Amino acid sequence: MSSDTAFQHYTAAFAGLIGARHVLTSAEALAPYLSEERGLYPVKAPCVLRPGSTDEVAAVLACCNAHGIAVVPRGGNTGMVGGTAAPEGHVLLSLDRLAGAPQVDSVNATMTVDAGCTLQSAQEAAREAGLYLPLSLASEGSAQIGGVLATNAGGVNVLRYGNARDFCLGIEAALADGRVLSDLNALRKNNTGYDLRNLLIGSEGTLGVITRAVLRLHPMPRSRQTAFMGLASAGRALELYNRMRGLFGDQISAFEFISAPAWAMLAPHLHGRAAPLAEGHRAYVLMDLASVGDDPGLEERFQNSLAAAFDEGLIEDATLAANETQRAALWDLRERLPEAQKHAGADIKHDISVPVSALADFIAEGQAAAEAVLPGIVGAPFGHFGDGNLHFNFAPPPGMNRSDFRARAPEVTQAVVGVCLRHRGSFSAEHGIGRAKTGEMARYKNPVALDVMRAIKRALDPKGILNPGAVL
Ligand SMILES: Cc1cc2nc3c(=O)[nH]c(=O)nc-3n(C[C@H](O)[C@H](O)[C@H](O)COP(=O)(O)OP(=O)(O)OC[C@H]3O[C@@H](n4cnc5c(N)ncnc54)[C@H](O)[C@@H]3O)c2cc1C
Repeated sequence: MSSDTAFQHYTAAFAGLIGARHVLTSAEALAPYLSEERGLYPVKAPCVLRPGSTDEVAAVLACCNAHGIAVVPRGGNTGMVGGTAAPEGHVLLSLDRLAGAPQVDSVNATMTVDAGCTLQSAQEAAREAGLYLPLSLASEGSAQIGGVLATNAGGVNVLRYGNARDFCLGIEAALADGRVLSDLNALRKNNTGYDLRNLLIGSEGTLGVITRAVLRLHPMPRSRQTAFMGLASAGRALELYNRMRGLFGDQISAFEFISAPAWAMLAPHLHGRAAPLAEGHRAYVLMDLASVGDDPGLEERFQNSLAAAFDEGLIEDATLAANETQRAALWDLRERLPEAQKHAGADIKHDISVPVSALADFIAEGQAAAEAVLPGIVGAPFGHFGDGNLHFNFAPPPGMNRSDFRARAPEVTQAVVGVCLRHRGSFSAEHGIGRAKTGEMARYKNPVALDVMRAIKRALDPKGILNPGAVL
């Protein structure tokens, strides 16, 4: 938007499409929208648009397309890669009013849900119908279904149930030119040409605005076991994982790893609660088993497997959740980790994946590579060990201030990603690209794949109005 007059002209047009009170322009109304989760990118949108239906989203996009106005879709704003940053002149399109009650179809075990519903409210609706939406992230109270699909989010249950892509059967999205792509089918089989649903999933607001989706639900597990274990090393965690896979197979729904430095960052956040294990382990694992049918023997088999692992020195200590409250308390600690790391200044972040077999080596080599750049840097990896995904985050060496530390991020990242690629890994496992990883995209992504992506972008958004600067 080049001038105040033009801006007023556009806001009047938007008001005509979605109602004046849903076009936010005052400093006070804009304030809650003008930041992104990482605090790394400016959000300077002159207005926030809050359409209340798919048709209104489509009308807004048609208007923006006609006038060449850049649009940044915004869900729960919990994304980790600056995807919701809106540089000067970009308008923010908030999906928060698209949040009708999710419609559960119990017989077909599906749910039709609006893009602006939080993941947590979708989980609750499934639970009320006796079904289970296993997609689970620490940010689920704020993250919205549209954002979760737009980023193809992962979380703690990917090991058994897959990531967002594996839950989505049908999708509805408004395209840049204002047409609505309606593909809200609830079929497990639908082999009718190019898979546009999967193109939109993970496109981070650059190909269309997701307005609704049909999600696949699962039976609610009836037997559950949770253990928190202390181990001597990441190598032991790998051995334990392989052992447990052999014993329990797909009953393992989560196998989360926490390094000792990451665990230490949690200490100030226990708020007087006793730690589940005595200090002093080099690594920790939080593991969940889930069985759909009644499985009265599961607890005993799990206890026996832990006793054997203890006798063989595979684990040093363990605590088993005796009931749902204890289970929730263990998971609550795990979910506090991202916030604890934020407070501890772990500002250089990597969301990488490597083959599971390479995890222990990657942790040792990644730490050494970062140390070579910045001696004393504190590596505090944690994450979804069972699917090879680590959040390998770093805090500054003692005495270094946060802004000097952040300035070293490109060197540290290049070193750590270099190790990751040597192990045939990925520089972005679940958070996506956003604005934070476009440099890595240009450097490491296959050039032919990049060309194809650009061609798709041009075909769907020829004027480049949808989240410019993100992904490509
Ligand atoms: C504490 C914490 C824990 C987290 N844990 C995990 C985790 O375990 N696994 C994981 O994968 N991620 C995790 N994340 C990252 C984040 O929560 C996910 O990426 C989530 O899916 C983002 O959803 P959102 O609604 O907040 O999206 P936003 O942050 O609002 O947007 C993310 C991107 O999607 C686009 N977008 C949003 N809505 C739409 C829409 N309707 N249509 C098209 N594009 C849209 C935006 O433009 C942006 O590019 C975590 C974040 C936090 C803060």
